[in-house]
Amino acid sequence: MKRGNDSNGNDTRRAKRTKYSDEVIQAVKEIFAYDLRPGRGSSNSSAIICRRAYKSDLNALKLFTGSEAAFLANADPKFVHRVANARMEAVKRAKEAMECVELSEEELEAGTATYTNPDGSASAEFRLMFTSIGSGDCILIRTPQGQSLVIDCGQRSQPRHGQYVKEIQDLLKEFVGTERDPDTKAVRPAQLSYLIFTHPDKDHYCEAPRIVFNTVQGPRVLLYTLTQTSYGESVKGSTAARNHFKKAKVCGRLVINNTKVGVTTPGGKEITSKFTFDGERLKLIEEPDCEISLLSAEASPSQHESCPTNAASIVTFIKVYGRKILLTGDATLGTEAFLLRHHGELIRDLDLLQMEHHGSGTEHAGRTFVETTNPRIAVASSGPHQSDRNPRWSTIAAYMRVTDGLPSQEGNQTPAPTAHRLCKGVDTHLIRYGTETLWHSPTAKVNWWQVKPAYKKYGIYTTDSGMSHLQFFVTPERVLERRWTSNAGDHRMKVLENGVVDYTPPTGGSP
Ligand SMILES: [Zn+2]
Repeated sequence: MKRGNDSNGNDTRRAKRTKYSDEVIQAVKEIFAYDLRPGRGSSNSSAIICRRAYKSDLNALKLFTGSEAAFLANADPKFVHRVANARMEAVKRAKEAMECVELSEEELEAGTATYTNPDGSASAEFRLMFTSIGSGDCILIRTPQGQSLVIDCGQRSQPRHGQYVKEIQDLLKEFVGTERDPDTKAVRPAQLSYLIFTHPDKDHYCEAPRIVFNTVQGPRVLLYTLTQTSYGESVKGSTAARNHFKKAKVCGRLVINNTKVGVTTPGGKEITSKFTFDGERLKLIEEPDCEISLLSAEASPSQHESCPTNAASIVTFIKVYGRKILLTGDATLGTEAFLLRHHGELIRDLDLLQMEHHGSGTEHAGRTFVETTNPRIAVASSGPHQSDRNPRWSTIAAYMRVTDGLPSQEGNQTPAPTAHRLCKGVDTHLIRYGTETLWHSPTAKVNWWQVKPAYKKYGIYTTDSGMSHLQFFVTPERVLERRWTSNAGDHRMKVLENGVVDYTPPTGGSP
């Protein structure tokens, strides 16, 4: 009996080990058949390595990197099994990411051809919306000739109304338009032209699986900074954004900084030639009346900056019907320095600027940058996150040019803007902002918002403040226009080229 028991036990152990060996060896085969390092394909040494791998589990483990193998050799086989599977999954994803680029040449060329509006019109208004996604960024754009862009899609905390996902999904469908499925002939959302993840912070990408990837086709081109695997956080009920990267026909990591200008695939393959670079900017869209280009990506942070990821933000420049727009992600002083040095003239005297880093007031909005960009309208994409308290008074003050003499008296002094281009006398959008003193106070948990009616008519907007999405248009008549709806009806606020504001209240209503 005793012997039999021993024998059974040995058999069970052997069976387990055999199964485990096969799994590990399979993983090893996969790994060495596909070398992830840039410029390499199958490894010639894979056959030798795999032969060696059959000798024992320990040898198989040696095929992981040195420190991994040392750790796994003493680990529970079930754990090793999981690690092997994860490794195989990573290889699979990398392969798929490479494949989506291999398929892309034709698609990319098709995309640069003239695009016809679904309604048949040749030219139309340019439309841009800062959605009220919460503490984060999600910007929707539609060009005059019907190309669509999404810049970022994420948040750290939700806006007060819980319907935002459905709302933004519907808006995105509207921006992208519809097409007929070639097989079923059914009408479906068309393909998104471009998706840009400015940098891998959760508040810039984590909602993309629900809002973008599950709603429209594509995107045709996805550009991001830093590593694909950094886009790994997800929100409840959704997978990580990086799992969807392969839905893009072209997927590339963009670098425009002092050391490099180019695009590579997630697998490290150079695909710069697939894009149009004009010196140090990537020309994404070139329509007769609308040009969209990317000016900076993976810029170096300046000394003492706390978050190098933010400096990496992709910065987007739009010139449409003669009006200039700059979208900044979470750019920092380091990004500003790069922009001023390389694109100083381009970004001078803007019509519309997205304040960097949600107007947080940390490590951005340097004086030279503010004076150069000198916008007519400044927007902070911010939301109700208690630890953010964005936008901060210091940023608002910087754009109103009233920082001097005010740092400890924020909000208590009558603003005295000098020589700024911010629109005066615009609509009654309230600005709720965090003050620096409350930000530094550990006990300030509630009532930290300040609302000063005095600042509400100076061309500064936030996507919070109890408002819904902030929508701007540029018309073929070169007018920059904000449109919104209240209980009173539809409002239109036009900013003419000379900065004069022309406000039209709804008929029979009041602003
Ligand atoms: Zn952010």
